[in-house]
Amino acid sequence: MANFKDEAIVLRTYDLGEADRILSLITSRHGLRRVVAKGVKRTGSRFGGRLEPFTQVRALLHEGRNLDTVIQAETARTHAALRGDYSKFLHGQVMLELVEKSLQERQEVPRLFDILRVSLDVLEGEVSDPSLLLAAFSLKVSALTGYRPHLDCCLHCGREVAGGKVSLDLGEGGVTCPRCRSHSGERVYLDPECLALMRRLLREEMSAVARMECGQREAMEVLSASLRLAEAFMERPLKSRHVIMRYLEGNARRPR
Ligand SMILES: [Zn+2]
Repeated sequence: MANFKDEAIVLRTYDLGEADRILSLITSRHGLRRVVAKGVKRTGSRFGGRLEPFTQVRALLHEGRNLDTVIQAETARTHAALRGDYSKFLHGQVMLELVEKSLQERQEVPRLFDILRVSLDVLEGEVSDPSLLLAAFSLKVSALTGYRPHLDCCLHCGREVAGGKVSLDLGEGGVTCPRCRSHSGERVYLDPECLALMRRLLREEMSAVARMECGQREAMEVLSASLRLAEAFMERPLKSRHVIMRYLEGNARRPR
């Protein structure tokens, strides 16, 4: 069992006994890892407050049979601004959960670390609408893990889907025309403008998505559809989807 160095972002932490903590990390070159940080909860721990969710570290890890161990961790980015802004924090939380749930342990998907790193940096800066950024992130993560959502034309017959609400079939991962629509399976109905927006989010760079704007209702519809697609692909629910959608609905009801 060898030691290895890698860049990593902390996705989640949970306590292990009195002093230790288990961390879920996405690494740049070694996939999703579960690692033990020994003594991290003691005051004066050599890791300090460095191993919290959102923190990006340069880590030296020891590979174990089941769990790895952190030997050293040096902070590269704290993403402190995300912890100080409740809306950004909630949006960022969904990004972390999406990455963790889209991978099996030790599974490596090229570019997944990079898209998270870039997206957290962008979220921390000037963002017109964090919900659009998160929707784009979710669609891109689905695509990177092998489930590119089929949004351009009917996934069965290739006809253009035009006129009225469009049916997005969650189980099949794409849009279907009225002729090919199956009668079973979960689906959401999207306004054509929302579907057009989702196509753009899938295509654009995150830095460009950060400048995109749309109505509040459209942003919520697009975000909800993107996250539900990801859940269908992963075959796992996202706890944080309900949290973010409740938060956004609460904001939408509040008079401005
Ligand atoms: Zn069709």
